[in-house]
Amino acid sequence: MERKEKLTNIFVWAMLPFGLAAAAWSLVYFPFEEVGIGMAALAFTTIFLSSYFSIQLPRTKIHLTISDGMIFLSMLIFGGPFAVVLATLEAAYSSWSIRRQGSPMKLKSVLINTLIAAFATFFTSVTITLIFGPMENMVKDTGNLMFFWLLAVAAISQFLINSFCISLVIAIKTDTTFRNVWNEYCLNALVMFVGGAAMAGLAVIALQQINIKLFAAVIAVFTLVYFTYRRYVDDIRITAAKAEESERKRAEQAETHVAELEHYVAEMEKTSVALRESREMLFHAAYHDELTGLPNGNQVIDAIREQIEKRKVDPQHNFAVLFLDLNRFKTINDSLGHETGDVLIKHVAKRLQKLLTPGDIAGRFSGDEFAILMTQFAVTKEVTDLAASVAKRLAEPFRLGNRRVFTSVGVGIAFGNGIYAEPREILRDADIAMYYAKENQKDFVIFDKKMHMRAVTLLQLETDLRFAVEREELEIFYQPIVGLGNTKLAGFEALVRWNHPTRGQVLPSEFIPVAEDTGMIVPMTLQILKTACLQFVDWQRRFETDDNLTISVNLSGKHFAHPELVRQIQSILDETNLRPQCLKLEITESAMMANAENAIAMLKQIREIGVQLSIDDFGTGHSSLSYLQRFPVNTLKIDRSFVNAMEDGSENGEIVRTVLALAKILKLDVVAEGIESITQFHQLRVLGCEYGQGYLFSRPLPVREIEKMLANKFQWEDILPAHEFAPLIQDDKFKELTAVH
Ligand code: C2E
Ligand code: MG
Ligand code: MG
Repeated sequence: MERKEKLTNIFVWAMLPFGLAAAAWSLVYFPFEEVGIGMAALAFTTIFLSSYFSIQLPRTKIHLTISDGMIFLSMLIFGGPFAVVLATLEAAYSSWSIRRQGSPMKLKSVLINTLIAAFATFFTSVTITLIFGPMENMVKDTGNLMFFWLLAVAAISQFLINSFCISLVIAIKTDTTFRNVWNEYCLNALVMFVGGAAMAGLAVIALQQINIKLFAAVIAVFTLVYFTYRRYVDDIRITAAKAEESERKRAEQAETHVAELEHYVAEMEKTSVALRESREMLFHAAYHDELTGLPNGNQVIDAIREQIEKRKVDPQHNFAVLFLDLNRFKTINDSLGHETGDVLIKHVAKRLQKLLTPGDIAGRFSGDEFAILMTQFAVTKEVTDLAASVAKRLAEPFRLGNRRVFTSVGVGIAFGNGIYAEPREILRDADIAMYYAKENQKDFVIFDKKMHMRAVTLLQLETDLRFAVEREELEIFYQPIVGLGNTKLAGFEALVRWNHPTRGQVLPSEFIPVAEDTGMIVPMTLQILKTACLQFVDWQRRFETDDNLTISVNLSGKHFAHPELVRQIQSILDETNLRPQCLKLEITESAMMANAENAIAMLKQIREIGVQLSIDDFGTGHSSLSYLQRFPVNTLKIDRSFVNAMEDGSENGEIVRTVLALAKILKLDVVAEGIESITQFHQLRVLGCEYGQGYLFSRPLPVREIEKMLANKFQWEDILPAHEFAPLIQDDKFKELTAVH
């Protein structure tokens, strides 16, 4: 049980004997003889009506009720025992009716109120009787001062007992001190009791001295005054309540307004935080590479710009830009997937960062391109040392999951000097130097002006080449391929030439790589293929050439990866009406090996449409034997470097011999490229090489020259007398025979 509850129970038990004593006393001394209408009216009014005549004094906790006055009155008229009974009943009834109206009053509280009322009235009655003697004597002489003292003692006694007991109970219930409760709630009650005693005293005096009619009139006037006052008080209360209500509403509104404001401020704060964050993110994104977290191109460019400005002010200030990109990154990306490629890039970024000294910046430009800006060095060697360490560190294997991946870089270095006005200029030069490093398989190359010239020329070439295709500046030359056994014409290889408007004839070795880099190789090859096929069909028709003659066309490795390739070949065959078996496509060994598995699939498709295939420049591309077996090709073309060096009887002679033996096993035809001397021709023939191609027979020739030769059937049906042992024809004589006129 709770402590409060326990204390309340103790209070009830303590009060109970006093209550019972009061009850017993009042019953014993009850003035039964005086029971009548007067007593009943007084009892009725006190018990049932007095609570209605209560007024709360505005802005105080004081309730003026007539019940206390009525108790005093009954005490004065009918004596203490009746007053005790009345007070007990009144307290019980009013507590009970409060409870009935729904207030949360416990039964125990009703009991407590009743006990207090009974005891207080009992105590007061006994005290008055002890001090002033029997009540009827006192009431008889109301003019006497003693009557006044009696009223005062009664009021004080009632007040003391009531307020003491009530304060005690409330203090227990609310866990506050007795004094606080007494000060707050009970002090005001003194007014009530004094008021009640005064009213009772006046009523008794009125009853004694004035006749009953007058008394009734006084009562009526009092009642009127009471109700008028009550209305007035009610008005005040209502007005006060209204004011309070509107005050409350205003306060509520203000509170809501404050809450709204607070909410708004919070929202504003949130928004501004979000804004700041997104601005920071934007700023970060604008200056950082998402994948590696390194500064991006923009940031590096800004940093270079700063260095350029610094250099303008201080010509002694050094800075350098290192540009690098990964070798084989595309292959790694294509074969292992982009995710692995991304992981590799992240690792590269980490390694780069570890190599930097404070003040240097490493940034990622795009894909596999990185740049380092060095700003703290005294001598060139510090820069080249860093470039060398970068190349060395990045050449070490990367562990990606359970794979070891190798890559390498070429580093281009450009030193900041007074010439550079814009960051992109120094970046461009570092890039050019990097290109050189890669081309020459060097770890790093320092930029010099000649490189720039070359780059400019290359760029010019690129621009010109675009027009070349449109303006049909490309011309196809044809080089005969000859059967070495019978010296009969076996076919032609189409070789492209570029008749440059200012530079004259440009050879394919110069512009094919550019065409490959720019993607122009695809439309260019299609144009060449179509022209060669049309030309060949025309020759077949006009010169009634041998059915077995073939036209060989070179196919670039870049075009080889084109998904439309087979369809494109087929449609050219359809358009030109060339029999597929007359067409031979040459693909270099290195292009095939770059992606051997795809190559096999593609070669198969080409073979399926009936077109023949050659491996060009064989011997330079490191084919593995296993792949060689699986490439569905018809012909091997031995690279001219081997043929060229054959005469010395060196190792190269052996290589040719081995290739021929290999081709025999694989059942492939062999064409020896670059036969320039009769000795080479003879040697190859002895070794059993079936076909050959070279200046010895003919240089690549323009159409009209080829047509001249084709017109002389005898010449091409037997280029050289078929005599195996004699040096059949002098070199000079032969050249005369085949020279371009
Ligand atoms: P390739 O396909 O191996 O062509 C043979 C090259 O050797 C030709 O050079 C030819 O002129 C040259 N040649 C022939 N006989 C001799 C000889 O006895 N001595 C010497 N020193 N050279 C000889 P060209 O025409 O300059 O072509 C070079 C390369 O350019 C070709 O090598 C081929 O890979 C490529 N190419 C040429 N035309 C085309 C084309 O239309 N498309 C593609 N994709 N590549 C082409
Ligand atoms: Mg070729
Ligand atoms: Mg070749």
